Amino acid sequence: MIFQSLSIATFNMRLRIIAFLLIVVTSLSTNVFSPANARRVTKRSADIGTTTQIPTPAEVLGFTPGDDRKLASWNQVVTYFDKLANASDRVKFEALGKTTMDKPFVMATISAPENLAKLEEYRKIQEQLADPRKLRTNPDPKAAQLIARGKTIVLITCGIHSTEVGSTLSSMLIAHRLASSNEPEIQNILKNTIILLVPSLNPDGVDIVKNWYDKTLGTPYEGTDPPELYHKYTGHDNNRDWYAFTQVETKITVDKIHNVWHPQIVHDIHQQGAFGSRLFLPPYMEPVEPNVPKQIVQGYTELGNWMAKQMRAQGFKGITTNSTYDAWSPSRAYSHYHGGVRMLSETASCKLATPITVKFDELRSREGYDPQKESDKFGPLWPGGEWHLRDITNYMITGAFLLLKHASENREQWLQRFYEIGKEAVRPTRRGELFGFSIPAAKHRRKLVDILRRAGVEVDATNAAATKGPLAGGPTLLVRLSQPYGSFAKALLEPQHYPDLRDSSGRPIAPYDVTAHSLTMLMDVEAKPLYVPLTYRRLSIADVDEEREKFREVSDPPRTAIYKALLPTMDEGWTRWAFEEAGPNYASLDDKKLRETDLSAYRTIVIPDQSARAILSGYARGTMPPEYTGGVGPEGVRALREFVEHGGTLILLNRASDFAIEQFKLPIRDVVAGLPRTDFYVPGSILRIELDTSHPLAAGMPKESIAWAEDSPAFEVSESQSSAVPRSAVRVIARYPASGNPLLSGWLLGGDRIKDKAALVEVTMGKGRIILFGFRPQYRGQSLATYPLFFNAISRG
Ligand SMILES: [Zn+2]
Repeated sequence: MIFQSLSIATFNMRLRIIAFLLIVVTSLSTNVFSPANARRVTKRSADIGTTTQIPTPAEVLGFTPGDDRKLASWNQVVTYFDKLANASDRVKFEALGKTTMDKPFVMATISAPENLAKLEEYRKIQEQLADPRKLRTNPDPKAAQLIARGKTIVLITCGIHSTEVGSTLSSMLIAHRLASSNEPEIQNILKNTIILLVPSLNPDGVDIVKNWYDKTLGTPYEGTDPPELYHKYTGHDNNRDWYAFTQVETKITVDKIHNVWHPQIVHDIHQQGAFGSRLFLPPYMEPVEPNVPKQIVQGYTELGNWMAKQMRAQGFKGITTNSTYDAWSPSRAYSHYHGGVRMLSETASCKLATPITVKFDELRSREGYDPQKESDKFGPLWPGGEWHLRDITNYMITGAFLLLKHASENREQWLQRFYEIGKEAVRPTRRGELFGFSIPAAKHRRKLVDILRRAGVEVDATNAAATKGPLAGGPTLLVRLSQPYGSFAKALLEPQHYPDLRDSSGRPIAPYDVTAHSLTMLMDVEAKPLYVPLTYRRLSIADVDEEREKFREVSDPPRTAIYKALLPTMDEGWTRWAFEEAGPNYASLDDKKLRETDLSAYRTIVIPDQSARAILSGYARGTMPPEYTGGVGPEGVRALREFVEHGGTLILLNRASDFAIEQFKLPIRDVVAGLPRTDFYVPGSILRIELDTSHPLAAGMPKESIAWAEDSPAFEVSESQSSAVPRSAVRVIARYPASGNPLLSGWLLGGDRIKDKAALVEVTMGKGRIILFGFRPQYRGQSLATYPLFFNAISRG
């Protein structure tokens, strides 16, 4: 019935509107999840004996979520949930904290009223099953009782990526049906599950996107993405923070939801591009990170395949499983290391809330399937046609209720599986197995320990003390594997060996995100694997109260400017984040300011990681309102050149280095530029570099360090006739080793090509200098090992 609406493409405008209204009415009366279909139920208010109507989203918002061209503000979403909770005894609604931009971060807890009355009891059941050591007895009889009594805990998270507008809107329809329906299936869900519903993991972005959408509605730019990050510091990378916990939203979710409730199922609702499958469901494609327990893989495989089968049976088309998205990184999947499956769903997008038409022959392959061909990973074919926000909410809501149905009908099985994961995790290590890791004193050890502890990892102290260095006398720490979240710690403490995956023609299969997450390397903390058990004692926080690096140098007005392209880039946000955490005061310069301000007011300008073309040209003309297009342009290049020639320091990060090489005709060649992946590929990995510590930029650094390389350049000093400065103006500060494999963690193809090539150079030009980082020295707020290089570069300016 969903695709009937697509045929209206042929109607003229007036007929289209009439047809659309008819279809909305039809869908409201027949779709099982439609608000109109849910029986009106009332809540008796005990004290005054009155009854309250359960409000529909339309009654509060003035439109039904999923209507074309309608988005809700965060205030409207919160108001709806507030009214719903006031009217329904199945819904509890609370603010868990404040977001980065000071908005309420909220969660609804939805279950049968008798369950809501005993939440603490169910939380304690979860706590014991998550950590079977707490059962004390030979555990199984007690566990069986807890499993019989417990509920499946389902966390539903929406809207972490704010341009994926469908899920936050769907959350209100999902909550309304749960609060108002007396269908047996809903009653069963309420009885057997406790649903934790987060309408948005990024409330700030709800308004950033809505404000931009409303501003451009009815213009040629309707439906474009906003020209700013939809999370103040991280943008889309807010969903890459689930092990570093840098952002306040991540901390709230981990501290106040995951660690309190240990959900067995986390349904994380997303949207993907418009031209692939209509819907992705797990299982994930290879590779699966080796520390993810096998029961987790079984769980998401079983549930995802079941949901896909049910949706196909209901007539939903264009569904893919076991493709596109892998399960490699804990950065997206906290629950995989904490006893719960992450059920990602990815529905095809329209243009924010504006419908689009997709022709069948415009559908494009993604990793693992071709949407124009049925296969074991894709089907049935979606014929193309109009694609509305309503289609998106229909796919999402159907998926969510199927997931809840499975969670309720297989309650004991989910709890049993959860318990088995916990039991395996706390099993004492056997002879010859990895016992744990010892962690000697190091500058950033405290930061690492704070991360592990936030994730529920127990860190102990051994009796061995450091004998040298500034932290001599401090205890060596111990992370045992035998503990509930030992696998989480192991994933972060060991190097990654990403498998060399190729397609049938031998081309490397791109990982979904980056390939390394060794926090020890990123933070320059050693973790030694131990195969022999050690004695240990409990640790107090004072034992690891170590020195913290200080970079702060506040100057007013700021002497450093960070280039903030109108075409937003996440690395710019992370750069601001690094400054605000530890760095000097800064100013932001957008394209216009960069062209028009007197840059001599600054000592240093930083250009974050972004392609040379994007910096130079920005949004193409015609794709965005004119004031947002054009990039720095030739005028900006001229302004930057004068800035350097008059004594300024220009710092370029990662791919931005190519911008300076090209525009300032530096005597440097990027030796991996333009190479096919089969020849060179570094999709987010940790490499080894050697430093010239006699250079002020590397002051205080060890001779060997790391580089976070991600589609990174590698430099060779090479003067040509067109070079504007002589090669003698170049000083190499870091280079990849001349022999041996530069790869420390992750995936690298063609490592030979960067042997002995430069990773960090300084070029003198006029009275100033240009510093090229061929890597990301402040990667996602994690690479503390290379922060000193970055901040030395800034303070040297
Ligand atoms: Zn997403």
